[in-house]
Amino acid sequence: MRMILVGAPGAGKGTQAKRLAAHYGIPHISTGDMLRAAVAAGTELGKKADAYMRAGDLVPDDLVIAMVIERLGQPDCAKGFILDGFPRTRPQAEALDRALAEAKIPLDAVVLIDVPDEAILDRITGRRSDPETGTIYHVRFNPPPPEIADRVVQRKDDTAEAVRARIAKYHAETEPVLPFYEDKGLLIRVDGLAHPDEVFAAITGALDAARKG
Ligand code: ADP
Ligand code: ADP
Repeated sequence: MRMILVGAPGAGKGTQAKRLAAHYGIPHISTGDMLRAAVAAGTELGKKADAYMRAGDLVPDDLVIAMVIERLGQPDCAKGFILDGFPRTRPQAEALDRALAEAKIPLDAVVLIDVPDEAILDRITGRRSDPETGTIYHVRFNPPPPEIADRVVQRKDDTAEAVRARIAKYHAETEPVLPFYEDKGLLIRVDGLAHPDEVFAAITGALDAARKG
């Protein structure tokens, strides 16, 4: 299974990608997680990406494209992958398309988790994660268990101001990528407002139907 998860910030991509990765036994490749790891490790890439990320701006295409192409070449991606948060711009989609075509690796599906803007601010400002396991929680929708409540953290860019910038970027830069995949017959839309279990069932149901069809 080779798939892309698309959606606005807070749509539930990370939440679903973790479950899908376990379900299909394939790696979850989150460009946001990779960039945060680069920032934390203080690598050259991390130093370049830090200011863009804090402001809710996109990291320049050339940096992100090189990072993803390198990652997809690693052996664990041979049997499939879930891309989460990439591509986010038209040039990223075109670069990915070229790289996959060269490697003769077709994509199976692009899943759009659809959530209206009104729901996003609430989701993002309530988001917390466990630094030890990477599990994503929400202070109201999915509160962390009491024994780990003291160690959950909030992302630096999960402020109302940075979220507004990210939502604007999503509409301006990422939504225009959708017709690219729709034209190829790869786009599957699911309702992201449903309970996470229902979103998961909708995604796996649609993927299984697409594979049979
Ligand atoms: P969210 O899912 O909340 O939108 P991510 O963890 O996917 O956040 O991304 C966090 C930040 O990392 C983005 O705001 C952006 O600065 C950077 N980033 C992640 N993926 C990309 C990408 N494909 N292109 C450019 N910047 C990216
Ligand atoms: P993304 O990776 O798209 O930015 P996340 O998976 O990190 O999104 O989810 C953003 C926040 O919304 C998290 O706090 C998560 O617990 C919560 N969340 C995810 N899916 C749902 C859902 N279906 N219903 C309610 N809250 C959700």
